[in-house]
Amino acid sequence: MEAVGLLCVAAAVLAWGFFWVWDASERLKSREQAGLLGAGSRTLLVIAHPDDEAMFFAPTVLGLARLRHRVSLLCFSAGDYYNQGETRKKELLQSCDVLGIPPSSVMIIDNRDFPDDPGVQWDTGHVASILLQHIEANGINLVVTFDAWGVSGHSNHVALHEAMRALSSEGKLPEGCSVLTLQSVNVLRKYISFLDLPLSLLHTQDVLFVLTSKEVAQAKRAMSCHRSQLLWFRRLYILFSRYMRVNSLRFL
Ligand SMILES: [Zn+2]
Repeated sequence: MEAVGLLCVAAAVLAWGFFWVWDASERLKSREQAGLLGAGSRTLLVIAHPDDEAMFFAPTVLGLARLRHRVSLLCFSAGDYYNQGETRKKELLQSCDVLGIPPSSVMIIDNRDFPDDPGVQWDTGHVASILLQHIEANGINLVVTFDAWGVSGHSNHVALHEAMRALSSEGKLPEGCSVLTLQSVNVLRKYISFLDLPLSLLHTQDVLFVLTSKEVAQAKRAMSCHRSQLLWFRRLYILFSRYMRVNSLRFL
């Protein structure tokens, strides 16, 4: 009798899991069909440091390319924490090229107001005004950036989120401009690679991008452009991180 009970529970769990996967994929399809991520959109990826685009956002950039978005990138620092700014700027351009963002669509802000330093709090108002200027000048319809936790909790990542949230809540964004934020996950989920997919399907509220094996290779090639950053723990990150394979995002 016990075995029958267990079988029933297992069947119920499987059915529930199937329902969630199916439901999540249907919701994603309807999002796309509703035109929220419509083709041809001018999309701006906003990052804090060279390598954020490959370490965290590669599934989003490649997923948006599938949807024929014109993606440009705004990086708020040269990643100069170890005085490697010049090298890291070149590495960023190479990585973006691998991800399909041409050098002409990449802008790197390299000034003292936004140092690559987790100990320095960037001025939210200043970040917001630069962002708004860039969004308006380039007719951006969709902005992608970090969520409130900033994936790793880095204060520079969080500053970008706070600036976008301020622009959105104060109604300063141009009409028709949406904001997507990359959902942070706990440390365990961060390093279980594709095994995180069922959980991502369960928890994704708005948009989910999952890379094919060919695209994962492309994301790894982009990451390998950041040669100055490829220390042993970064190599482990490339092997195990779910962010190199799966991105779940939420509209602000
Ligand atoms: Zn970063």
